Formats: sequence, structure tokens, C-alpha cells
Amino acid sequence: MTIFEKIIEREIPAYIVYEDDDVISFLDISQATKGHTLVVPKKAYKNIYEMPQDLLAKVIVVTQKVSKAVDLAFQPEGLNILNNTNEIAGQTVFHFHIHIIPRYTKNDVGFKFENHMNDLSSDEFKQRAAIIKKNLL
Ligand code: 5GP
Repeated sequence: MTIFEKIIEREIPAYIVYEDDDVISFLDISQATKGHTLVVPKKAYKNIYEMPQDLLAKVIVVTQKVSKAVDLAFQPEGLNILNNTNEIAGQTVFHFHIHIIPRYTKNDVGFKFENHMNDLSSDEFKQRAAIIKKNLL
């Protein structure tokens, strides 16, 4: 049983902000920023690869709903909507979930994208796109 299933089953407490038959949303205990919230399907799937499409769609719709509520509640400058897939990417709870992380200042969360655009030829871009396209299921 994942820690989130324990929250869903009310075996451990959480600050729940939304719940329906399929999806639940509650404050992330770490509160990386004020209002940091998780959106979680009630049925546990390990990661996005395993998620049934209809449930994934429901999770995204709830993510929008809760994001709007967080925006109204705390008036951040913006927010990051984030999923960590697998340990290498920072996943620690292996029950698919989406983070809503309100942003108040540029440096309140550390996550840096390097721009490698100038290291790549247009052929390399083409190849990368082509191999992804080939693998669309
Ligand atoms: P991940 O690292 O897997 O993307 O995110 C897992 C998140 O779950 C972390 O941000 C962590 O703070 C949060 N978390 C872990 N245990 C609990 C808990 O017992 N209650 C709540 N509300 N959040 C938790």
C-alpha cells in the first residue's frame, strides 16, 4: 500500500482540498512553497506510463480546478505543474501524482533547464523528433 493509499483510506491524516470518486487532492506535507498541493488518482498506478487514459484525463481536469483555487487563494505569480517519473527524476512515492507548486519568486524552487540548442545541428533535431514519432503508440 502506498502512503497516498493510506491517506485515501483515512489511515493517516492529510489536509484534503478536493475529492471525488476517482481523484483526491491534498497539501503536500513538504509545502515546497505556500499551497504546494498534490493531485492523485485514488487507484495506485506507479507512473504516467501505467495510467489509463480516462483516469489521466480526470487527473488533469482536477489539476486545473485545484490550480485555479490555489491561484485565487494565495495569488502566486504563477505555478509549476510537475510530475516526477521514476527515481532519477525525483519520484519518491511510486503512486502517480501531479504537483501543483505555486511560485512567488524566481528562486523559490530550484529546477534548472540548460539550453543545448546551439550544440545541435538541424539534422540532430530531425533525428530526435523522428525517433520519438516512430515510437508513438
Ligand atoms: P515525488 O517526490 O514522488 O514526486 O513526490 C512525493 C511527495 O509526497 C513529496 O513532495 C512529499 O513531500 C510528499 N509526501 C510524502 N509523504 C507524504 C505524506 O505522508 N503526506 C503528504 N501530504 N505528503 C507526503
